[in-house]
Amino acid sequence: MMQKGPGGEFSAVTQMGILVTNDDGIDSPGLWALAEAMSRLGETVVVAPREERSGVGTGISLHAGMSVARVPSPLPGVTAYAVGGTPGDCVILGLRRLARGHIGLVVSGINLGANLGNDILCSGTVMATLQAYFRKIPSLALSLVMDSEIQEPRFDVISKVAGVLARGIIDGTLPDVAVLNVNAPNSPPQEVKGIAVTRTASSGYVRLSEVGGRGDMTYDRGVRARDQLIIEEGTDIWAISAGLISITPLRFDVTDCNRTSTLAERVALLRSELA
Ligand code: MN
Repeated sequence: MMQKGPGGEFSAVTQMGILVTNDDGIDSPGLWALAEAMSRLGETVVVAPREERSGVGTGISLHAGMSVARVPSPLPGVTAYAVGGTPGDCVILGLRRLARGHIGLVVSGINLGANLGNDILCSGTVMATLQAYFRKIPSLALSLVMDSEIQEPRFDVISKVAGVLARGIIDGTLPDVAVLNVNAPNSPPQEVKGIAVTRTASSGYVRLSEVGGRGDMTYDRGVRARDQLIIEEGTDIWAISAGLISITPLRFDVTDCNRTSTLAERVALLRSELA
């Protein structure tokens, strides 16, 4: 049973399960670090894409069949499923078919790479939360900011942040959470400068670059891409650049209300042309 919290409609209840997904795929160490942190807080089920699906955003497999297989879990008491689909598919399947009992929290990650700025709209990690949002279930997206792919990921700081936020949602000390997008530096605890609640930067983070000089293109996500940005204070990109953990509350409300009245006036003028 969902319970209406003091601050709004999004509220977890204490006796509930946690659904863990990601977009890096079922074999990603970040997924299992997150599942381990969640398993200490409640009954945890892992439902993740069979293959890496980074960059699929809100995508779901509308007309394709999806394979679903139970897979061995390295964590005692945690059941795990690999889905031949997107993170969005995993959340839908997890909530509707695979989880036993009620899911009160959806967590996605830990992504091996940042999800900052308006690129989050393309992120499978972040946009997995959309399906939870539709169902008024609170959710967290967690990403580790890695400046290069050869860097060894460390999950201690971000797992702790995930645990603290999840516990707050579950016990009600963090009421009315819809979606939180969390990015943390890939640094030891003593090097993390603090935590900031931020807004999503309006700039993108991913840049196109050419590889091999033959016109082949790839996306750059590391320091090089970030260096080209104008950094606005208070944004997620600013926080990460300052060595802080960034937490951004998100909502998925896409109507541009500032433009509706002007548009209505113009449309009224067009009406005669449409007749
Ligand atoms: Mn990813």
